[in-house]
Amino acid sequence: MTKIFIGVAWPYANGPIHVGHMAGCNLPPDIFRKYHRMKGNEVLMVSGSDMHGTPVTVRAEKEGMNPKDLAEKYHQMNVKAFNDFGVEFDEYHSTDDPIHIETVQKMFLRLHEKGYLYEKEMELPYCPKCDRTLPDRYVEGECPFCHFENARGDQCEECGKLMDPDMLIGLKCITCGSTPEFVKRNHFFFKLSAQEDYLKKWMSDKDYWRHHVLNFSRMFLETGLKDRPVTRDTTYGIKIPLLGHDDKRIYVWFEAFMGYYTMAVKWADGNQEKLDSFWKNPECRHYYFLGKDNVPFHTIFWPAVLKSLDWGLNLPYDVPANALLKIGGQQFSKSRGVTMNIKDIVQHYDPDAMRYYMAVTMPENRDTDFSLEDFVTRNNSELVATYGNFVHRALSFTYKNFGQIPESKLPGNEENELKTRIEQANHDAAEFLEKCEFKNGIRTLMELARFGNQYIDTKAPWSQIKQDKDACGTTLYHSIWISRALAIMMAPYMPFSSQKLWKALGEQGNVLDAKWEDALRAPKPGTTLSEPVPLFKKLEGSDADKEVKEMAPNEIAGLEKLDLRVAEVKTASDHPNADKLLVLTVDVGDGVRQLCAGLKKHYTLEEFVGKKIIVVCNLMPAKLRGVMSEGMLLAASEGEVVSLLAPPQDAQPGDRIDGTTPAAQMTINDFATYPFQIGENRNAEYAPTGGQPQALTVSGKPIGTDKNDGPGTKIK
Ligand SMILES: [Zn+2]
Ligand SMILES: [Zn+2]
Repeated sequence: MTKIFIGVAWPYANGPIHVGHMAGCNLPPDIFRKYHRMKGNEVLMVSGSDMHGTPVTVRAEKEGMNPKDLAEKYHQMNVKAFNDFGVEFDEYHSTDDPIHIETVQKMFLRLHEKGYLYEKEMELPYCPKCDRTLPDRYVEGECPFCHFENARGDQCEECGKLMDPDMLIGLKCITCGSTPEFVKRNHFFFKLSAQEDYLKKWMSDKDYWRHHVLNFSRMFLETGLKDRPVTRDTTYGIKIPLLGHDDKRIYVWFEAFMGYYTMAVKWADGNQEKLDSFWKNPECRHYYFLGKDNVPFHTIFWPAVLKSLDWGLNLPYDVPANALLKIGGQQFSKSRGVTMNIKDIVQHYDPDAMRYYMAVTMPENRDTDFSLEDFVTRNNSELVATYGNFVHRALSFTYKNFGQIPESKLPGNEENELKTRIEQANHDAAEFLEKCEFKNGIRTLMELARFGNQYIDTKAPWSQIKQDKDACGTTLYHSIWISRALAIMMAPYMPFSSQKLWKALGEQGNVLDAKWEDALRAPKPGTTLSEPVPLFKKLEGSDADKEVKEMAPNEIAGLEKLDLRVAEVKTASDHPNADKLLVLTVDVGDGVRQLCAGLKKHYTLEEFVGKKIIVVCNLMPAKLRGVMSEGMLLAASEGEVVSLLAPPQDAQPGDRIDGTTPAAQMTINDFATYPFQIGENRNAEYAPTGGQPQALTVSGKPIGTDKNDGPGTKIK
């Protein structure tokens, strides 16, 4: 028996778990865990809710709630969502758990004793208006690498690069929009640099990692490791277990991954041997499941901490991080309000059908796109038409004509072929699952279902029954055999329907307690069957539309909160302090405003003058590298091509986009939640998640672009 430890990235308790998170971080380890248990391996899978992160406090401030209450609310909600979706953990708690807190403090002290933590003065952004220092997500600005305008102080959500606040262009406080000053503060730093050589050696034999994980991690190491602050100025979170630091707490990035160990401590419940059997046993492999933005924390920082603790704890064996599951080309994001929540999904759809869809579209190596239309199509044409159809035909025909599993009186050569087929599927799927290739795993199993369908078609038991009952019985016996094998092997992917099938086959207990190899075993003739019910439901096209609207994220308001106007460019000049920026003055109808725009690579100054553009007029003014910007122009970008939105020919400066109003000021963060895109007809659209795209117009006339952009292009 092998032991497998599975760490699942801790989600922030700042909102309900959404489809992107489930498909990227939770469903894969759940399949992995269920499979290994069926293989007879001992598995310990842990995770929990991150209650202390800035996403939680930022959200709580927005909702006017106490962060602890807010986090607890979402923690409970997410525990239920996992449960309803069939995702099981051996331990799932929160960072408020007393054992977590105590163990994190122990680890902090140990690192301090070992000389891996030291105090150093650092510069931090400080908002004079809010009178506080601003850790990571409390500041935003333009990403210096990809020029995404709302990069956070800890990481750019668009390109995934890790940030320090002082790297951002046009840094501002997300609460009040002020430009922060920099102040000096004392903080604890983790000596990450000390483990650089060790990590290089450790990573040198990790060629079996997913390419994108390995490449990213090796590149990260190549650029050199910098020590990182592990405490921050706040009174919310885990206290520093040393005297005189009451105004600081342990940084969440440092605390959250320690949760993999703390949850094992909780699970072992004081039994050191039990704990060591997973954490110090060299035979126990450690797997970590997470999204790609989390890779360096699990391939660099966490291994470095484990090594530095010097307790002989196991380092990760594999980190099969996923790329992103997007929706309509956009990133799911709780903080940006682009979501489709599991708690809503399970109310509208069969969780197994959704688990199937996520498994076949899983972003294992590159970003993939989620759409409910595609879900409906694949549910009908694959799940229902192949797997569901096969087992239902096999079971209902047998039930009706035999009431029990018939005997195989004429096995012939085909029984050997069938055995080989099942053995092959059992072997291949296992191999894929062990390599965390979940897509290939389910494909293999669907192949077996397809074979079953063909087998029934070829044999035509409905004719056989009239001529030769023994031949018919044999065909059905074989079909039941395949169905039983599928019930077992599909169980890690689709536990609910496998259980239904298991019962219908006259089997007892929980299918997840069956052994993986038991899929090879022949069924017992004479076993009484229960009346079969179809495993899956066909969905109508309208199932995608109808439900989607109800689930459209409510954080995205209508156009009435925006003041979008036609403007005419009067002058254009270079920004004095920024290479990529230029400064425009534009007539917005009720006056002239100054804007900074990052389009220098794409337009010359001459091209700008006299041009009519679309400007967001109710953005909070902000200084970009020392120059005030009082609005933002809208442009569409696809890859390298950036083009300005072009109002209709006869539009005049000050004309408003239909549906928008002289609205109150908003932050750039709020604006970023508006899903604008270039539609099929190459015109600009407002496309709320799941809803029908709606054309952006001025006096009923469409807005195009000044270059040829294809549909789906994002507007920023
Ligand atoms: Zn970026
Ligand atoms: Zn502020």
